[in-house]
Amino acid sequence: MPNARPTIGVLALQGDVREHLAALRAAGADAIAVRRPDDLHGIDGIIIPGGESTTIGKLLVIFEVLEPLRKAIEGGLPAYGSCAGMILLADRVEDGTPDQVYLGGLDVTVRRNAFGRQVDSFERAVDLTGIGPFQAVFIRAPWVERAGSSVEVIGRCDSRIVAVRQGSLLATSFHPELTGDHRIHQLFVTMVEAGR
Ligand code: GLN
Repeated sequence: MPNARPTIGVLALQGDVREHLAALRAAGADAIAVRRPDDLHGIDGIIIPGGESTTIGKLLVIFEVLEPLRKAIEGGLPAYGSCAGMILLADRVEDGTPDQVYLGGLDVTVRRNAFGRQVDSFERAVDLTGIGPFQAVFIRAPWVERAGSSVEVIGRCDSRIVAVRQGSLLATSFHPELTGDHRIHQLFVTMVEAGR
């Protein structure tokens, strides 16, 4: 019999890994840290955490996780990226560094450090489709500048797109793992369960 709780990985090369592991467990998933290609076997979904997208990209190459994870996402592995994770999941990035690497998959153009140019970090209540008002923490956050036709915009902050969904991919500019409000992790767990 398959495990009743889905197993969701958190990419654990850099960033706020522990908070995502805790939020996933609170949202009803088994959560494991993913550092090596082998860790990808047996997970039903993955979270790419916030942190620094250029550093996470370099470590993805060094730990040889970039290609297998890219293929897994291409093959339908559900993925949720918050902040730096949103940047890593984007198909197109403005203001990345020249040698920066990405996983891709989400048909969006993301502007890196977009809010960060105005103010490094702030909190705001964002109205999320299907969830309602959500107190969102933004830290040197990107925004989505353009979204393809298959992308559903589920949240905006000051008219900027800050939360999107495309099939089994989810991304937010902000950090729900820092607030103790697990509704976005619950949404992702539901998406993962739907794909099992
Ligand atoms: N500005 C960071 C980057 O470019 C993202 C910040 C974050 O994840 N809090 O990766």
